[in-house]
Amino acid sequence: MQTPKSIKLTRPWGVVVKTGGKVVLKEFDTESEAQSFGQQLSAFDNVEFEIIEKPTRGIAGRENSLAFVRVDNRNMPGGFFYRCVQVKQEPGRLFCTECHDYRKFVDVTDRYELTLRCCSECGISVNDFYIKTANGLWERPTSS
Ligand SMILES: [Zn+2]
Repeated sequence: MQTPKSIKLTRPWGVVVKTGGKVVLKEFDTESEAQSFGQQLSAFDNVEFEIIEKPTRGIAGRENSLAFVRVDNRNMPGGFFYRCVQVKQEPGRLFCTECHDYRKFVDVTDRYELTLRCCSECGISVNDFYIKTANGLWERPTSS
């Protein structure tokens, strides 16, 4: 069942609950509250739900900055699915598409004396296609 477009959040997070042809929205202030509500819902077989986030300011122009975040749900084959979210701009941190989390990127010098900014956890560099795309790091073409 699709989430109706008419659903608008007044609080930052929401869980759209779909059961028996009915759609109910429950709103939360934090993601973890929404997540734990979703966890409770996943105990029921006849309930579908979707966790949604209110669009935040400060990410305009970053519509393509999407990342996939794992959501555990025992009703899904394999017990989880990936939810597509907009990457937030966090001071000093980038979203690492390998770690699926916000990480500090540090300067690493390789044996050819080239310095690259890399994820402090997994070592992927900012030259990676997905890191660039998720964090809006592509250079915009300049008109001369
Ligand atoms: Zn990483």
